[in-house]
Amino acid sequence: MPRFEEARATILDHVPLMGIERLSILDAVGRVLAEEVVAPWDMPRMTNSAMDGYAVNARDCQQAVTLPVKGFIPAGGSLGSALEPGTAAKIMTGAPVPAGADAIVPVEDTEETETGIHLPKAIKQGAHVRHKGEDVQSGESILSRGTILRPAEIGMLASFSKIFVAVYRPPRVAILSTGDELVEPGDPLGEDKIINSNALTLAAALKEIGAEATILGIARDTPEATREKILEGLKADALITSAGVSAGDRDFVRSVLDELGAETLFCRVDIKPGRPTTFARLGQTPIFCLPGNPVSTMVTFEELVRPALLKMMGHCRVIKPLIEATLLTDLTKKRLGVLNFQRVSIEVRDGRYLASCSGDQNTGILKTMVRADALALLPENLDTFQAGDKVHIHLLSSNADMLAC
Ligand code: AMP
Ligand code: MG
Repeated sequence: MPRFEEARATILDHVPLMGIERLSILDAVGRVLAEEVVAPWDMPRMTNSAMDGYAVNARDCQQAVTLPVKGFIPAGGSLGSALEPGTAAKIMTGAPVPAGADAIVPVEDTEETETGIHLPKAIKQGAHVRHKGEDVQSGESILSRGTILRPAEIGMLASFSKIFVAVYRPPRVAILSTGDELVEPGDPLGEDKIINSNALTLAAALKEIGAEATILGIARDTPEATREKILEGLKADALITSAGVSAGDRDFVRSVLDELGAETLFCRVDIKPGRPTTFARLGQTPIFCLPGNPVSTMVTFEELVRPALLKMMGHCRVIKPLIEATLLTDLTKKRLGVLNFQRVSIEVRDGRYLASCSGDQNTGILKTMVRADALALLPENLDTFQAGDKVHIHLLSSNADMLAC
């Protein structure tokens, strides 16, 4: 049985990269760039003023001086000629610095007089001048393949009139729930029924990372029903099943996959929750079979499926960083010798992460998942974790930066 890191590495080694599509840059926000972008010109395109003020030649301003003002250069305009020696030209931010000028004096450092503009201090050559190409030079690589397109990248692309880009397509992921006991949310409830919450939980998790969910509904616990739905799910780029993957009499997911000729890379992982998690492939299509208890489904998605889908979407950094947190409460491990993911709530105080048990860790208890901001990874070789101890956590929230408030 693989350990957690091994299982995750196996999955990452066996998922395909998605195809490419061209999108307008605004539609591409949050996507991963599938091409390298090279600057077609220098940026700034011309040497220009960084301030509203006066363009001068520093040679004329080596001490306090009053210069006659000859000309006005608005942003988007030009002086039309070179700056005459011994004069200043009024200039606005972003306007081209005229030939003959090599420094800008901000308006607030000047005094208007009847004979011209008075500069009370010596001016340094190059002051408040933005040089052509000082940001980016023509031919320079500005964005590499694998870059996530955030507002900063969109701004950079727009600056070079690059309004369409190649990005990786989001995977279409089929979600299959299995179980005779399941009814859909909103359907009439019997005493013995369980609402299929996993499908919508998984769809929400997919939405959060920008993947597309196709909900297949419920396969009843027969090999035929399971086979039919799995075959439907295999039309997608990836398939996630929940439940029916343990060794129970009515668990048919694994046997159906075998029968369909899928390659099973592992059918158990040394973790809690999530031990029966199975990873298989049919052709290029990854199949993630997650246990049915809602918390097990969420934890295994978070820790094993999410990184895989991110990799398929072209992301380079797919594994969340481990963050060190100090425990405010004891954590108790039920089973020794396995890596245990426990739900913790997090506070940030003085820049330090502080973790508290979010309550009952049973995999049927959803409330403690709702209260959790992070999963604490309690390693195999340790079994007592007391207040004050340090543990590693994976933050759950996609708004984890809000924790500091
Ligand atoms: P199984 O892995 O088939 O033994 O399922 C374990 C338990 O998980 C079931 O008894 C249900 O309580 C629960 N469960 C299974 N599927 C779902 C689902 N789609 N939504 C919510 N709970 C589920
Ligand atoms: Mg079942």
